[in-house]
Amino acid sequence: MSDSLEQVAAEVRACRKCPLGDSRKNAVPGEGPANARIMFIGEGPGFHEDLQGRPFVGASGGYLEELLAEIKLTRRQVYIANVIKCRPPGNRDPQPAELAACRDYLDRQIVLIRPSVIVTLGRYSMERYFPGQSIARIHGRPKRVGDVYYLPMFHPAAALRNPAWRQAMNEDMARIPTLLNELDASRAQRGPQPEEESGDNFEQLSLF
Ligand code: SF4
Ligand code: URA
Repeated sequence: MSDSLEQVAAEVRACRKCPLGDSRKNAVPGEGPANARIMFIGEGPGFHEDLQGRPFVGASGGYLEELLAEIKLTRRQVYIANVIKCRPPGNRDPQPAELAACRDYLDRQIVLIRPSVIVTLGRYSMERYFPGQSIARIHGRPKRVGDVYYLPMFHPAAALRNPAWRQAMNEDMARIPTLLNELDASRAQRGPQPEEESGDNFEQLSLF
């Protein structure tokens, strides 16, 4: 049977592959449209996310929504997920073995969604695409691989604690529409490709 976001979510909700499965209240698979062009990847569920089973619904989530509004988007138009699907007790950092156990779920979500822009929020998701880098140095500097842009940003919770990073958050977020336009322009230049379906994936083009 072919994979689906619902299938991934069902497996995550039943998952016991690492000890966080025993301490969580609710797993947080992620949410958003299956054809989202932009995907945000955070760290892991906090207190409120664990209670509700949804990503970024606490203070960080409110701030993320404000940042999205700056580029005229709402959270309903983007996919929001985390590298770790269950809350580490007391919001401690996720451990390497937990990250490794959970990795496949996010990989499958990315394959299914095929986002054009992947925004990493904080160190743990940055590490997947920019291993060994320093977030203070590379935030806001997109990396293009094929038809995908990876954009590293500070974690919203870190920027809430550190007002000096707020302007950087706005500036980094403001890059997203440009990145989408660049990808569209190079796609248009190539002309239609046999494996690209027209339709849903292109619906949000008119936004910018
Ligand atoms: Fe499974 Fe990931 Fe939750 Fe660990 S954190 S129990 S690997 S879903
Ligand atoms: N912080 C995260 O990294 N993810 C959430 O879902 C909420 C807060």
